[in-house]
Amino acid sequence: MNHIAYISVGSNLKDRIHNCKNAIDQISLFSKILLSSSFYETESWGYEDKNLFINSVIKIETTLSPSQLLNNLQLIEQKYGRIKNINNNYEARIIDLDILFFDKIILNSNDLVIPHMHLYDRNFVLIPFNEIDPEFLCPSRKLKIFKLLQICQDKSKVYISTLSS
Ligand code: AMP
Repeated sequence: MNHIAYISVGSNLKDRIHNCKNAIDQISLFSKILLSSSFYETESWGYEDKNLFINSVIKIETTLSPSQLLNNLQLIEQKYGRIKNINNNYEARIIDLDILFFDKIILNSNDLVIPHMHLYDRNFVLIPFNEIDPEFLCPSRKLKIFKLLQICQDKSKVYISTLSS
C-alpha cells in the first residue's frame, strides 16, 4: 500500500546543501519524491551554534510502514556521519531526518511520535512546508500548514539559501 509522508531534512556541518541533496537521493532509492521545497538557511534552534542550518521539507510516496521509514532514515543519518551527543540534546549534525507526517496517522510510541512533536514551534519546518503544501491539514491540530505558520511564535530567521553545492 502506498503512503504519503513529509520529511524534514537538515544539515549544519561541512557541505550542507550537498548533504541534504545526498540524503534526498538516498531516500529516492526506497521512496518516490513527490515534492521538494527550496533549501533554506536557518538559525540553530534549541541551542547556540555559529553554523547556520540548511533545511528543506520533502513529500514522499512510500510502501514502507512508519517504523520501517524511521529505520531507513536513521540508517542514512548513521551512514553519513551524524555525530551523536551523549546527552541526546540538540547538536551540530551532518544530516538530520525527521518524519513530520505519515498519512493522517497520529502515533505516540517510545521511538516515534507522529506528527513530529516540535513541528508547530519551528519556522525552519513550517516555512519550507508552506512552500510545497500550505493546504495540508494537520490531523492532530486540525489546522492547515499556512495557519500553523501564521500562529507559530518562533522568531528565528529562515530565508531561501543563495548557496549551491
Ligand atoms: P532527533 O535528534 O531529532 O534526530 O531525534 C532522534 C530521535 O527521535 C530518535 O531516537 C527517534 O526515535 C525519535 N523520534 C520520535 N519521533 C520521531 C519522528 N517523527 N521522526 C524522527 N525521529 C523521531
